[in-house]
Amino acid sequence: MKCRICKSDRTKEILNLGKQPLANKYPKNKNEIKKEKKFGLSIFFCAKCQTAQIKNIVSRKLMFEEYFYLSSINKGLKIHFSKLARKLKKSKFVVDIGSNDGIFLEPLRKNKIKCVGIDPSINVGKIANDKGLKTYIDFFEKKVINKIIQEHKKPDVLVASSIVTHLENPIKFAKNTKYFLVKNGILIIEIEYLYKFIKNLEYERFYFDRPFYYSANSIDYIFKSIGMSLFDIEIVNIHGSSLRLYIKNSEFVKKTKRCKDILLKEKIYFNVNSLIKINKKIINESKKFRDRLIKLNQEGNTIIGYGAPARVSTITNFSNINSKLIKYIIDDSPIKQNKFTPGSHIKIVSKEKNLNKNINIVIVFAYEYLEDIRKNFKKIKVKFYKPIPFKVLL
Ligand SMILES: [Zn+2]
Repeated sequence: MKCRICKSDRTKEILNLGKQPLANKYPKNKNEIKKEKKFGLSIFFCAKCQTAQIKNIVSRKLMFEEYFYLSSINKGLKIHFSKLARKLKKSKFVVDIGSNDGIFLEPLRKNKIKCVGIDPSINVGKIANDKGLKTYIDFFEKKVINKIIQEHKKPDVLVASSIVTHLENPIKFAKNTKYFLVKNGILIIEIEYLYKFIKNLEYERFYFDRPFYYSANSIDYIFKSIGMSLFDIEIVNIHGSSLRLYIKNSEFVKKTKRCKDILLKEKIYFNVNSLIKINKKIINESKKFRDRLIKLNQEGNTIIGYGAPARVSTITNFSNINSKLIKYIIDDSPIKQNKFTPGSHIKIVSKEKNLNKNINIVIVFAYEYLEDIRKNFKKIKVKFYKPIPFKVLL
C-alpha cells in the first residue's frame, strides 16, 4: 500500500492480527452479538516517514456514534493534567482539542489560565459545560476554529492529548493547528509511543479506532511538511509510556538534545526487518497466553479479568480467548458493565458482588492501573498476571 502520510511506496506489512471486531462496540445481548461485524486488521509501516498505519480504515461514523469514555474517572490522568496546567501558567489562551469532560480545562481554570475546549461528543461535552468549563461541541475543523477566533482570539497554546492516533487525516489536522495558532505558538501533542509498545509486544494497542500509530519521526515529518517544527520531547507516564511532543508554529526551530536523541534512536530501531520479526514473537506470545490459561483452568483455578479497555478485544480475539478461559471481566465503568467483550464475548461486570474468595487468578488487562486494582483484592489472595507477554505482576 501507499503511505497515507508521505505517499511513499516503501511500506510493508509488519503485523497481521486477523479478523477483528470494532474494539469499542461492546454488544449488549445475543442479538447484538449476531450482528457483530469483523474486518481484517493488518498494520503497515512506512520506512520513509516511520508511521505505522492500518490497511483498511473503517468508517469513523460507524465507530464514534455511540462512543463515550469519561477521562475524569481516571485518577492518574487527573494528576497528569494538573501538572501540565501548572507548566502552562504563562500562557495567554489555551485550547484543548478533544477536551472530553473537562479533565484538563479544570486545572487550567484553577491556575487562572484562559481556556476553552473542543469535543465532538454531545453528552461528554455537556458534562464539561455544566461545570462551567466552556466546551465547543464539534469536530476540530475550520468552522469551530473560526468561531473561537471570532469570539476570543488565536490561542498561543494548543493541546491534543491522546486524540491524534484516532484521526483519519493527520495532515489536515496539522494544517488546521497551524491556521489556528498565533505565529510561534506551541502545539503540545501526547501520543502512546509506538516504539515502546512494539518493543513490549503490546500489540493490543492496535485496533480500528486508531488508523495511525506515530513515532517521534512521524510527527517530525508531518509538521515539517506544513511549515511547523517539532523541537522538544518528553517521555510521560500515561497510557503505558507516552510521548509529549512540543511543536512550534514556525519553521527551522532548533531541537533540544533529548529531542534529537529520541529521533536518532528510533531511526536505528525502526527498520522493517526488525519489525517483521515482532510478528512472529507476537504469535508465540498469544499462543503462550492461551496455553497457560488452559492449563491454569485445568488445575482448577478461577480466572477473571480486570479492566475492559478497547485493547481487550484485540488480545482476546487474536489469542482466541473466550469465557471458557476467563469467567468474566470486572470493569469500573458503568457504561461497559453487563455487556460483552467484542468478538470474544466475555461478560463484563461490576466489582460489587463479583469479588469473591473463589477467585485466585486475575488477568490485568488495564495493567497501567495495577496499583488501584490491587486495592480491591486486599481480602482475597490472588495472583495478578499481565496478558501479553504473559507474566506475573508483583
Ligand atoms: Zn510514509
